[in-house]
Amino acid sequence: MDFGFTEEQERLRKKVREFFQEELPEDYDWGGGAETAEEGQAFMRELQKKTAKQGYLTSGWPKEYDGMGLGYVEQGIVDEEFGYAGISWPSQLGLHLAAPAVFLFGTEEQKKKFIPPLARGEAVWFEAFTEPEAGSDEANQQTRAVQDGDYFILNGQKTFISGIYKPDFLYTLARTADTVPKHRGISLFLIPADLPGITYRALPSMGGGTQNDIFFDNVKVHKEYLLGELNRGFYHAMATFEFERTGTAFPGRVKRGLEEFIQFCKEEKRNGKPLIEDPEVRKLLAEMAVEAEIWKLMAWKAVWWFGNREELGPMPFDLSGMCNKQLTTAQSEKMSKILGIYGQLRQGSKWAKHEGRVERGWRSTRSLHAAGTLEIYKYVIARRGLGLPRIPAKLNAVIAQALDEKK
Ligand SMILES: Cc1cc2nc3c(=O)[nH]c(=O)nc-3n(C[C@H](O)[C@H](O)[C@H](O)COP(=O)(O)OP(=O)(O)OC[C@H]3O[C@@H](n4cnc5c(N)ncnc54)[C@H](O)[C@@H]3O)c2cc1C
Repeated sequence: MDFGFTEEQERLRKKVREFFQEELPEDYDWGGGAETAEEGQAFMRELQKKTAKQGYLTSGWPKEYDGMGLGYVEQGIVDEEFGYAGISWPSQLGLHLAAPAVFLFGTEEQKKKFIPPLARGEAVWFEAFTEPEAGSDEANQQTRAVQDGDYFILNGQKTFISGIYKPDFLYTLARTADTVPKHRGISLFLIPADLPGITYRALPSMGGGTQNDIFFDNVKVHKEYLLGELNRGFYHAMATFEFERTGTAFPGRVKRGLEEFIQFCKEEKRNGKPLIEDPEVRKLLAEMAVEAEIWKLMAWKAVWWFGNREELGPMPFDLSGMCNKQLTTAQSEKMSKILGIYGQLRQGSKWAKHEGRVERGWRSTRSLHAAGTLEIYKYVIARRGLGLPRIPAKLNAVIAQALDEKK
């Protein structure tokens, strides 16, 4: 693996960084939260369209589908700059999850229908997989899709589905056959989000974002919205999860966060001295720098894997996703430690330090379930990475019982 970037790649990075320096207002709240207010949402939608016009939104997509046709490394650079600028796109899940699935399993008609609005930065997608009884156990989908002529009739509920913007499409799973094993009777659907019978209920969460309950009540979905093979949706979904769990945007954001936090520690005084003169602060900052570097390397390792997957095959497990989950918490704890009691104060308090970002960051680490829990990541690493046998059915039953008792 060689992480040296060519001059051309460095030029691309510079261009993207300059684009955001020009487009983002000086007081842009890069740490997140800017888009929670209505005007912030409108701004992000416009910025998304402008970024699409530059081609950056779809830098790695083929040219015939409105992409720039760049390689994985270039796409990694552009994504890292998105993170460094502190941006989470309204169509994040469409770009990074639904689109790869359409490219892999979609018909030509589906590609023509779904890809261009994403490439223009217009379409917002929700990933509607989780149900009250189908979280880690994704195969336990209870939402039903019953075929009726050219249509499927959907009934069921999805929960904890992320999204503050009004969605245009849902990327969702539903049971289409009662089979043993259960994951062989599930299909993947791309559903217009405003079909009659779909209702939404917001679940504001402590992390600052919003999740939603989504209800399907006799929703009529044309069969043209079935993605891939009937009853093979679970496999299709699993194949595309790695697009959701990898990426360089997160470490880009962490780099920016650390740079600004170090600057804060240089300027902030305690007992008359800058924080950086405190040996304990210096030690914690050094640890954070090492963590950020590990995070970045793992993310770039995944990019390298994607670029060489014809020889290497699918990634056996994903360490960068694991870093996102584990190191987010570690970094947040260290920042809280450095700030002491001031780390608990919210943005808006006149005594809050570093614009209340540490408190906000801490809250967001409480909701790391998105895209799978840390325990499941470890489970996958143990199985695929270490080649350990599956957990015997008896032990699985004990875990299930323990989870039931926790409820
Ligand atoms: C902020 C946030 C955003 C989200 N966004 C989305 C979204 O956009 N789309 C979507 O579809 N879903 C979304 N989710 C849902 C998320 O994917 C699920 O919460 C997650 O998959 C876990 O499922 P669960 O909550 O049902 O927990 P459960 O599966 O009930 O697990 C409960 C606990 O038991 C542990 N556990 C479960 N099984 C095992 C096992 N076999 N071995 C060891 N430990 C185990 C889990 O790790 C967890 O700690 C989001 C959740 C959050 C919190």
